[in-house]
Amino acid sequence: MEYAKENFSASIEMLDLCLKTNGPHVLSCGYGYRKAIASAGTSDGMHPGIDKALSVGTKIYAPFDGEITATRNQPSYGLDVFVYNASLGLTFFAGHLSQQLVKVGQKVSKGDLIAYSGNTGMSTGPHIHAGLYKGRTTSVDRNDSKWVDPVGYVLTSTASAKKSNDEVAKEVWDGKWGNGADRVQRLTAAGYDANAIQAIVNKGVTSTPTSAPKTLTLPASLGSAVPVYSYADGKKVGTINPKKFGGLTYDLVTITGNGDRVIVTRDYGKVRVNPKYGTVK
Ligand SMILES: [Zn+2]
Repeated sequence: MEYAKENFSASIEMLDLCLKTNGPHVLSCGYGYRKAIASAGTSDGMHPGIDKALSVGTKIYAPFDGEITATRNQPSYGLDVFVYNASLGLTFFAGHLSQQLVKVGQKVSKGDLIAYSGNTGMSTGPHIHAGLYKGRTTSVDRNDSKWVDPVGYVLTSTASAKKSNDEVAKEVWDGKWGNGADRVQRLTAAGYDANAIQAIVNKGVTSTPTSAPKTLTLPASLGSAVPVYSYADGKKVGTINPKKFGGLTYDLVTITGNGDRVIVTRDYGKVRVNPKYGTVK
């Protein structure tokens, strides 16, 4: 009998996608047969997924486009979420969450925030249990062999047809791909030509007079909480943290009639920044 490995490091595309990280990942428990964990109340048997320790409240993103087929609160996995992609024929499962941000029947896109990690259900500490199922399911039977080992499982090679550069450029405008180096990395990882897409985005920006400013730079000296406001209604939606990143530079979408600088942030999408912050170039 071979037992599931514990405390080992592996490259796992599914975790890269659902955590928006670039592995390798240290797993507290791998996929496979494992002995009972008395403190967690589990018995001997299959562990039909992988466990990674995460502090409570870590953002969990949809690893692929799909439909939410179930969100439950039950003894084993606590709060959980299932995302099914029909063209891939795969279900992504995340358990022990602290908060579910999606509802059954909801359509999600790859990269959408769907939950926060937690420590609910049979769990000995804050972590995510992430599973991958060949097919559609709304429950976890650990003896069902369609739960496969996510380690080494490549999701993007069989991904649904890629979008056109124009479509992706529009998503960039809508804030789905983040900014700067983060955006380049994510576009490249998804198989897109980041330069070609940036060229389309820039064309949109410079369709206003050619003298139009192109970037807004927020230096680290502005501190950790520059307020940002909804593009649509001007209400405050949160803060961004130039200090943490040694300064931030955004593509400038436009400057509104009252001088607000409009940028697209990863966390809040299209937002306004007060003219007193940062430098437009
Ligand atoms: Zn687990």
